[in-house]
Amino acid sequence: MQRRALFAAALALPAIRTARAQGALPVVASFSILGDLVRQVAGDRPLALGVLVGTDADAHDFQPRPSDAERLRGAALLVRNGLGYDDWLGRLTSAAGFRGTTTTATEGVPFREATGGGHDHGHAHGGGAARRRTHAVEPSRTPDPHAWGDPRNVQVYVRNVAAGLSAADPGNAALYARNAAAYTARLAALDGEVRAAVAAVPEARRKVLTSHDAFGYYGAAYGIAFLAPQGVNTSAEPSAADVAGLIRQVRAEGITAVFLENMSAGTTVERLAREAGVRVRGRLYADALSAPNGPAPTYEALVRHNTGLVVPAMRGDA
Ligand SMILES: [Zn+2]
Repeated sequence: MQRRALFAAALALPAIRTARAQGALPVVASFSILGDLVRQVAGDRPLALGVLVGTDADAHDFQPRPSDAERLRGAALLVRNGLGYDDWLGRLTSAAGFRGTTTTATEGVPFREATGGGHDHGHAHGGGAARRRTHAVEPSRTPDPHAWGDPRNVQVYVRNVAAGLSAADPGNAALYARNAAAYTARLAALDGEVRAAVAAVPEARRKVLTSHDAFGYYGAAYGIAFLAPQGVNTSAEPSAADVAGLIRQVRAEGITAVFLENMSAGTTVERLAREAGVRVRGRLYADALSAPNGPAPTYEALVRHNTGLVVPAMRGDA
């Protein structure tokens, strides 16, 4: 018994020694998708990674707890999405007396403007490239924060994350650059994969209904129109008129791809589907990853999972 315990301790030593020699880098990411990107870019570099809004959780109306301030206090790097998604970080960082580096992952991403919920926004037809906007955020315009929906944008996220990690931990800058380059190549392959999968769906059938406007970038990238009773923020209650309008639209256009989202109960969509006489096809992973044993534990798995659900649903496959 004792020998076995000693043996196990000896086996564990090298890992502990590595972590101690480098000191696990304390990093905080505002939500689970960013947490995965940080892990991908860090690779073998030991991290003490804190994710504030965890798997299957909603960042839009997140209420930070005292333990979140505690996590931030000693962090060397904070990675946030920006575009109004995680603005609650402002109060949290000052409450925590955070003194590390802050990286805004969407910096340099061509953002889309938010469109209100409840009707056909018509923003997904004819390919997204021409509609991508590059101007700076103006106070009168609300940006759509869900920029991670387009894997090409996530290449920008990764560049920013690599720059943030390198600023916080310059000794490993070459490692971060290498990992970022390898991951960026995988994101390009993922983009091609989704494009090919969606190409198999007739253009007129590329319509999906989901709980809130989380898929504007994904839809624009791949020519899919997404409809939702809620706008880009999950806290807005859809009006009865908006829901009635969507029910009419689902019926009139024969929309078969109707989904719930992983961060919310989806009562409105269930009622809407029932009244429109269509079947709910499952749950898309919108603003958060799944738990490690779920279908979307990484960003790449999330995109593949969602695409694997929406493609047959749009075609109307049984
Ligand atoms: Zn959202």
